Amino acid sequence: MNMKIAVLPGDGIGPEIMAEGCKVLCKIGETFGHTIELEEALVGWTAIDAVGEAFPDATQEACDHANAVFFGCVGNPERDMTVPQQERPERCAVLRLRTGNYANLRPAIVYGALAGQSVVKPEIIGDGLDILIVRELTGGLYYGQPRGVTREGDSARGVDTLSYTTEEIVRVSRVAFEAAQRRSKKVCSVDKVNMLASSQLWREVVTKVGENYPDVELTHMLADRACMELIRDPHQFDVIVTGNLFGDMLSDEAAVLAGSLGMLPSAAIGDGKPMFEPIHGSAPDIAGQGIANPIATILSGAMMLRHAFGLDAEAQAIERAVESALGDGFRTPDIHVPGTDKVNTQGMGDAIAERIAQG
Ligand code: NAD
Repeated sequence: MNMKIAVLPGDGIGPEIMAEGCKVLCKIGETFGHTIELEEALVGWTAIDAVGEAFPDATQEACDHANAVFFGCVGNPERDMTVPQQERPERCAVLRLRTGNYANLRPAIVYGALAGQSVVKPEIIGDGLDILIVRELTGGLYYGQPRGVTREGDSARGVDTLSYTTEEIVRVSRVAFEAAQRRSKKVCSVDKVNMLASSQLWREVVTKVGENYPDVELTHMLADRACMELIRDPHQFDVIVTGNLFGDMLSDEAAVLAGSLGMLPSAAIGDGKPMFEPIHGSAPDIAGQGIANPIATILSGAMMLRHAFGLDAEAQAIERAVESALGDGFRTPDIHVPGTDKVNTQGMGDAIAERIAQG
């Protein structure tokens, strides 16, 4: 297969982790006989410094020419606050990349080798965990109108609007039910039906869509309860589907189970150009030191092979290589414990790439 991928490393640790993500993809290309064309483009503060805007036209063109976008991370907390909200790279660049991609897939996987390192007790995590959170990505509270702050004298009023349409709920629910069919056939829909009108519609529509998937067991849970259950008894969940706001929070909470933000990949899919990125930010506190964990990015590459190119065996080869490198004791500093082998970003990328070549 011939794959064209736009590579957007971005800011902070972005270039360091993306180098390893691309190394592993190229190793897959060599091992499985695929041609992988990578076109790198600027995004974020790196792009502002180079050409004056966070998402230049050349970057849009690189994305338009590609089959999929491989994105690192953007943001610089010291500089983010110096520009209006709508001009911050995290808002304008990431939102441009997400256009049309209404479903955000966020697996929260705790590998057996790291189970003891979760902040949650070992008896709760057991020998690992695998939950998929499907978050609605282009609607809900983050985009509803009207929004904004109006000021009058000393007083001000901030408004956001939470709105969902049937169509928005149907399409993201389908993604969740179809994902569940490939897994343990369980979907838990999370809402706030006791308080929100939009949640009443959410629950009604998800239930209706669920009738088309009789092999999948559908349950519903209030968002506050879900926050608690995710920590108390995470194994009860397989696929969670929820709106933009609750999904944002639940997926970060689920990330804590995995022990490090550096472990978790994501995919944004739908009607736009599919986009794959680690869930973490630009980690300015460790940028430039070569110690960031590249696994979230490498696993985002695996999600790209599966969801953008339908290459399940290749995606599994990456996932197995990650598991094997962790099993053999390779650890970046964020997941290092005594008795394991501390490696830097490049060392982890090499360990994973080698294991792909070995099969
Ligand atoms: P962050 O995710 O960048 O970092 C949080 C903590 O996790 C830090 O201590 C960091 O060192 C650690 N961490 C993150 N990724 C890691 C990795 N791969 N390996 C090892 N440790 C890792 O979140 P933050 O500090 O709140 O945000 C920093 C900047 O990133 C901000 O400007 C923020 O707006 C931006 N941000 C961007 C995105 C994105 O590009 N999609 C997402 C979140 C935050």
